Amino acid sequence: MSVTLYVKDAPSHKEKVVCHCVEEARAFDGSKADPECWACEGTGEVQEDVYEGAQPLNMSNGNAVAILRLLGFEGDDLYCGQIELAEIPKVRRKIMALRASSGARSSAIRMPSDTQASPNACRVFESGLDDSYVLARLEGIEALLMQAQSLGTSVYWN
Ligand SMILES: [Zn+2]
Repeated sequence: MSVTLYVKDAPSHKEKVVCHCVEEARAFDGSKADPECWACEGTGEVQEDVYEGAQPLNMSNGNAVAILRLLGFEGDDLYCGQIELAEIPKVRRKIMALRASSGARSSAIRMPSDTQASPNACRVFESGLDDSYVLARLEGIEALLMQAQSLGTSVYWN
């Protein structure tokens, strides 16, 4: 499961791109499209939304919640929400403060882990969250907020 942040009504256009089935075929033998591919139905091309300006930001649920909490969002269900136009300056000031201080970002940092309670229990991997990831996501969110401000709209996530 993942969460995507995006600018509401951001300008985008459709563009033809090579289908993933062609990419996969290239890795093995030829470069032909899968005739039974659900995405391109064998044509090898798909239409994709291409956004102008700030790109939508996709994160795992756990990482999204950690970043959103860092920005001051609270509650049990942070998997969807929005930053209204009027709230954007406050959130941008928070991002500025977080970018300036690694100490302020530290609550989102998680070490990678690999745990298994007993030999027969399931093994749980967590990839962790490092400071460079947190910084990059804060920059990505700031770009979305700036675009939303220039369009007079909000940033949504779900
Ligand atoms: Zn395909």
